[in-house]
Amino acid sequence: MNILVLNVGSSSLKWQVIDTDEQCFASNTDRRLARGQVERIGGEAVWSFRAGDGASVKGSAPLRDHRAAVEFLLQWLVAEGGALGSLAEIGAVGHRVVHGGERFVRSVGIDEQVLRGIEETIELAPLHNPANLKGIHAVRAVLGAAVPQVAVFDTAFHHTLPERAFLYAIPYSLYRRHRVRRYGFHGTSHRYVSYRWRQLTGTTREAQRIITLHLGNGCSACAISGGESLDTSMGFTPLEGLVMGTRSGDVDPAVLDYIAQKEGLSLAEVEMLLNKQSGLLGISGLTNDMRELLAEAREHDDRRARLAIEIFCYRARKYIGSYLAAMGGADAVCFAGGIGENAPAVRAMICEGLEFAGIQVDAAANEAHVGREGRISPEGARTEVWVIPTDEELLIARDTFRVVHGIEARY
Ligand code: ADP
Repeated sequence: MNILVLNVGSSSLKWQVIDTDEQCFASNTDRRLARGQVERIGGEAVWSFRAGDGASVKGSAPLRDHRAAVEFLLQWLVAEGGALGSLAEIGAVGHRVVHGGERFVRSVGIDEQVLRGIEETIELAPLHNPANLKGIHAVRAVLGAAVPQVAVFDTAFHHTLPERAFLYAIPYSLYRRHRVRRYGFHGTSHRYVSYRWRQLTGTTREAQRIITLHLGNGCSACAISGGESLDTSMGFTPLEGLVMGTRSGDVDPAVLDYIAQKEGLSLAEVEMLLNKQSGLLGISGLTNDMRELLAEAREHDDRRARLAIEIFCYRARKYIGSYLAAMGGADAVCFAGGIGENAPAVRAMICEGLEFAGIQVDAAANEAHVGREGRISPEGARTEVWVIPTDEELLIARDTFRVVHGIEARY
């Protein structure tokens, strides 16, 4: 069945068409028919599309809203891209939805009730869920209500967090009254990496005890035990935890009011500063892009670029340490995301000094795995280190197929 996978942001849209079914799950023969992205929706949008393994086609077009963007990509798919003969070949649509609150603990078919549920979580994810809803409405308007749509939530994988991991040590009534708790994000990515590691190593779900690090623009760590999320670094919002491209990760909450007073900002403005002007960008004063920071450090020995990389790696190492403590050890640490998959220097720096825990990186294997799946720790290491390129779209496509066909999935 051809599934259109959509990841809709406030002014962007990433998509793939994946042909999958139950047989593909077992044999990993899902086929990626086309993919692409549209940015700057709302004005002169720029797009980049690709059919199969062909070359990318790029261009710009005035796309005033998400519906126009969905129409545009579908037209391309059946006309110029030629990946599909007609729109009737799209069997279902799977959406990445950022926040499912406590209500959505697995992927679900979208009906009126689910739509209302996603609307109710807007409060918890004001930046993300409205865009996801726009995507759902756009598809319904363009493809019609008969094409099933499925929501796959970023938070769902973390529904297994025990209370000791998800509750903040603030008055319990705040959890009861306002659901203030750690939700965790990047769930589809951690779930994919965890699934894929089991597959690569022939480990059963029950025996699995690993730490996954999704290091992209957003970064998070996850402790996975018995195939389930036991703890994760992002919290009530994606701001908590690791140092990220522009997000601070963990800070003392008391700095918010202090910065607000000193800089004459509102609390909302300080929160924005922690989300958009902090992290790698904030420390380096240069960029949120790890590739550029590594180049600055290497070529110009830029002190603040070095510092940003060092703080980034130090924080990640501390989280590995804390998850080793939470689980009583781990069988593997798995790197994913743009940085995790492509930056051997960062992986090596994160693992530095963890030899006491049986964690070591083999220099040659590390260098050899750029954007490529495989083990990068030496033979016989107590805790292995792996690179596993994430594939959230694949999991969304498979979940969509399962939901449409009423097949139970374990998370
Ligand atoms: P997103 O979270 O938006 O999906 P990605 O997973 O694509 O982002 O990760 C983006 C990050 O990955 C950026 O910081 C980018 O610099 C980094 N990155 C991508 N390729 C490399 C590379 N070859 N070396 C170092 N960092 C890289």
